[in-house]
Amino acid sequence: MDIELKKFNSFRIESKSDFFQKIKTEKELLSLINKAKKEKLKIIPLGAGSNVLFKKRVKSALLKIDNKEIKIKNNKIIVSAGLSLANLLNKCLKNNLSGLEWAIGIPGTVGGAIFGNAGAFSQSISNFVEEVESIDIETGRKIIRKNKECYFDYRQSIFQKKKEIIWRAVLKLKKEKKKKIERKMKEFLEKRKKSQPIGSWSAGSIFKNVPLDRFPKKIQKELKKIFPQKKLIPTGYLIEKTGLKGKTIGGAQISKKHANFIINTGKAETEDIEKLINLIKKEVLKKFKVKLEKEIRIIS
Ligand SMILES: Cc1cc2nc3c(=O)[nH]c(=O)nc-3n(C[C@H](O)[C@H](O)[C@H](O)COP(=O)(O)OP(=O)(O)OC[C@H]3O[C@@H](n4cnc5c(N)ncnc54)[C@H](O)[C@@H]3O)c2cc1C
Repeated sequence: MDIELKKFNSFRIESKSDFFQKIKTEKELLSLINKAKKEKLKIIPLGAGSNVLFKKRVKSALLKIDNKEIKIKNNKIIVSAGLSLANLLNKCLKNNLSGLEWAIGIPGTVGGAIFGNAGAFSQSISNFVEEVESIDIETGRKIIRKNKECYFDYRQSIFQKKKEIIWRAVLKLKKEKKKKIERKMKEFLEKRKKSQPIGSWSAGSIFKNVPLDRFPKKIQKELKKIFPQKKLIPTGYLIEKTGLKGKTIGGAQISKKHANFIINTGKAETEDIEKLINLIKKEVLKKFKVKLEKEIRIIS
């Protein structure tokens, strides 16, 4: 069966999958894991598809995590992985809970955010995670990890190395006046709108920012002058300096607003985006002698 994946990825790439299922309960999850295993398929959990690039045909079993429960007890939130960050932020606001305002405008789910330790404006979800419950794809067993055991780092978590499905998380926030939370959200959204091509079809930043110490010493010196306080050099800046901003291949374009975003101008195909990714890598390596690391995941 061909399932059209266009509406399940924020690039709005047209792609087809043989095995795609939405999952709301643990029972459904375990039964589909078994089904995919019988068919000898690789299992890939999917959230909102806002940090992925689908190949033209996806052969893996895509399990869209669609559990959406949320419980709030004082300043703790027990939230399902499939809940969108937007809905989570609404709940936070209603319950006077502050901490995640920076996540406004990130179109992902809680599970996807924990997997990639999503963040913005010098904050990340790991600062608010108390524990994460996941399900091991091989054994079906439940695993509960405290924050430290998730080995969060910049856009990293242990889940990137495991075959597990993030199912639920406990977050700890702070009580705050509603007006103050609203104001912070507004400010962050304004900042985002100024620097990012909001409304275009994209998957957010294509590459991670680059730690200063990865550059050759001479280049480090120059970058320190431009970014005196930063340990991570914005990849958008590096790409801009290669002169690639606005470069178009087929239906894909390096955003004119933010060079670390590639946008689908309407009819982009996976290969158009991949070609731009490779071109950026090549040109940044040539100019700055540094290898870029992808933030998005390519799903085949
Ligand atoms: C306009 C725009 C702005 C963005 N801004 C930001 C930003 O400021 N900061 C930022 O960090 N990101 C940003 N992103 C990227 C993206 O929205 C986030 O990384 C988001 O957290 C990804 O969540 P998702 O549910 O869409 O994950 P998906 O794209 O569905 O999946 C991403 C990866 O996570 C895995 N995954 C998803 N759910 C689970 C689960 N339950 N268990 C295990 N693995 C799972 C998938 O297998 C995949 O490898 C932006 C994207 C867009 C389009």
